[in-house]
Order: sequence, then C-alpha cells, then structure tokens
Amino acid sequence: MARKRIIAGNWKMNMTPSEAVKLVEELKPLVVNDDVDVVYCVPAIDIVPVVEAVKGTNVQVGAENFYIEDKGAYTGEISAPMLVDAGVKYVIIGHSERREYFKEDDAFLNKKVKKAIASGLTPILCCGETLEQREMGVTMDWIRLQIKSDLAGVAADDVKNLVIAYEPIWAIGTGKTATSDQAEEVCKGIRELIAEVYDTDTAEAVRIQYGGSMNAGNAKELLAKPNIDGGLIGGASLKAEFGQVVNA
Ligand code: PGA
Repeated sequence: MARKRIIAGNWKMNMTPSEAVKLVEELKPLVVNDDVDVVYCVPAIDIVPVVEAVKGTNVQVGAENFYIEDKGAYTGEISAPMLVDAGVKYVIIGHSERREYFKEDDAFLNKKVKKAIASGLTPILCCGETLEQREMGVTMDWIRLQIKSDLAGVAADDVKNLVIAYEPIWAIGTGKTATSDQAEEVCKGIRELIAEVYDTDTAEAVRIQYGGSMNAGNAKELLAKPNIDGGLIGGASLKAEFGQVVNA
C-alpha cells in the first residue's frame, strides 16, 4: 500500500486573519494536486477564516497548538473539540519551538497526542535533534527516546494514521537543510522504531515528513527518498513557492 504524500505548511506566528485569506487565495491555483494531502497549519485566530477560504479546494486545515482539557477554567487556551468543531483536521504536536520556549516535555506531549487522537484530530508529531546532539553522534538515540515517550500507550491502529515530522533543530529557519541522505537515514530509523515497538504494517502505514528549511529548491530530492513521505514547511509555506513544494 503506497503512502499518500503530505505537504503541510507551518505558518507559525505569521499572518493576520486578512493576510491569511489573501495568501490562501493566492495559493489556490498553485496547490492543486490530488496525489498529495495539502495542509495549512495556521495560528488559532486564522482558523475560522482559513477553513472558510479553503472550502471546495483540496486543502485541509491544521492547528499549531491546543490544550489537553476539553473545556473549563484555562484562560487563553483552545481545546481539541473547539478545533474539530471549527473544521480542523490536523494538529502539530511537539514542535521544537513549543518544546523549547513553552517547556512542553514528552510526558505532556504524550497527553496531547492521546487527546488529539481521541478527539478525531490527526497529530503531526515533531521530533528532532540539536546540532550538538548530531555532532555527539546521539541523533538516533534522542529521536527514539522522543518518539517512544510521545507515543507511550498509543495503539497501533492510531499510529497508522498519524504523521511524524523529523525536524533537525539546526535546520529550522536557518536555511541549512539536512542533506537528503541525512534526512532519509533518520526517517528510516523512525520507521524501524515503529516496526520494533508495533509491527511492520504500522511502520509501513505511518507517514513521515522531513522539515527544516525545505523549499522549492530541495523538495524534489528530499521527497524522492523512500522513507520521506512529505514535508513540514515553515518559511516557504508563506509564499507562492509553497505551490512548487506541493508539486515537487
Ligand atoms: P522552516 O520551518 O521551513 O522555516 O525551517 C520548519 C518548521 O519549523 O516546521
């Protein structure tokens, strides 16, 4: 069974609601491709207008964050049921920026993964090493630890539907992309880990993205690798270039 490619934009803290709608309109003719799942992960305030703006297109909408409770006294937070009701299908979990700036640890991320799945959202679970870890030769040990902790207690059938994004921290927003061989090596290692913890069917089904300065220039080579099923795109998702990545 061939895995369907998934190209997701991670807008981060960019685009006001009116800018968001403009960008969606500009990208509309550029991202048409039935062979690929196309997702825009957008700031919370952009979700409602973007869901409206992508109606009738092949694009689905993702969130960048949510809180693990369904409702209640959590001032400033947004719940998974709210996202689902608004038309959101995917949610990014464990992005290195949330791990670092908002101190989200693996135990909390494990709760987020379970809540997202229970609510009907597809997690895009991120992992990745620092430059120091890569230089010390512990990249795969670190990634294995992250994935194992974040997926603890998650059933195989749920893992089959999930998306894992390998994002080396040193490649995010730096213009420094991992080589396609480096990216493939880790994505392959993640698939092997899933086969080890679950089974080969689950490992063959789970979709693994590369992220980190992926753009129109390097997408084709990265996506040609057997274990890279898509991309999580930051900077290049905010411009027309995103269409070239989708069609790479
Ligand atoms: P970048 O970001 O493409 O700007 O490097 C990727 C990400 O952080 O998801």
